[in-house]
Amino acid sequence: MQLNFACTQCGRCCQGHRVPLSVHEAMAWLRRGGDVHLLCDAVVWPAEPPAGDALAAYRRERSFAAASAAMAVRVGVILAASFPGRCPNLMDDQRCAIYAERPLVCRIYPASINPFEPLGTESKACPPEAWDARGPAFVRAGRLVDEATHALIDQARHLAMQEIPAKQRLCDALGIRVAAMANEGFAVHRPPRAALLAALEASCAAMATQADPVVPVPALPGDWCLLSARAATLEILAEIDAYALDACQAGQLGVEYLDLQPPDGAAG
Ligand code: SF4
Ligand code: SF4
Repeated sequence: MQLNFACTQCGRCCQGHRVPLSVHEAMAWLRRGGDVHLLCDAVVWPAEPPAGDALAAYRRERSFAAASAAMAVRVGVILAASFPGRCPNLMDDQRCAIYAERPLVCRIYPASINPFEPLGTESKACPPEAWDARGPAFVRAGRLVDEATHALIDQARHLAMQEIPAKQRLCDALGIRVAAMANEGFAVHRPPRAALLAALEASCAAMATQADPVVPVPALPGDWCLLSARAATLEILAEIDAYALDACQAGQLGVEYLDLQPPDGAAG
């Protein structure tokens, strides 16, 4: 696979998206007056997967152990800058007002932190001319060419692992206990800005006093609710005695359900 890329500075990647943030980036975003939501998903985790399962290992390092009724699960939490339409930092001339401090994800785009996401053009906001073959080399033999971007991706992956205990504390502090089934959707939590900032600061303070920040905090037992919009998934969750609800009930739980898949019976 071979791709060339030159940013056209069209600003499309700064509109209509959620921007995943590290804990410190989230605090900075909130202090600038922006909104940050928590996107939670979960997988059932009855036993440790076999060594060599790279996808499971990736999931494991980016999640914390929890329980949904009798079932062991692992919960992932994404802190995401959320804005309808244009990013609040996108200026009229399509430049970024916080360019020097912009989030890692913004620096990495259109590459991705997720090693399982294909390095194609399909899911990217960039216009066709950005991928013109006369532009600088972007991907050669299926690998990103730019070493600086590799370093940023490594930094983002390391941070994502390191921040798991802080995210678990954050959920405990904010009483967050609803997650969507992974690969189907996300449960979107929108805590008030001041409450989220205070909880993030407290989580960071707790991390700073820990000798090894990667040691997880103990999970509270049995209390995560799993959402799914798919009848087949809900049947399986009932059979394994997990605590699951239809995603249509998300509003009653005070969360939004963000669906990543077409509903049952939909085309495609
Ligand atoms: S922070 Fe800057 S680079 Fe990132 S989405 Fe907003 S305007 Fe774009
Ligand atoms: S969408 Fe692509 S081409 Fe447009 S500003 Fe973002 S990275 Fe550059």
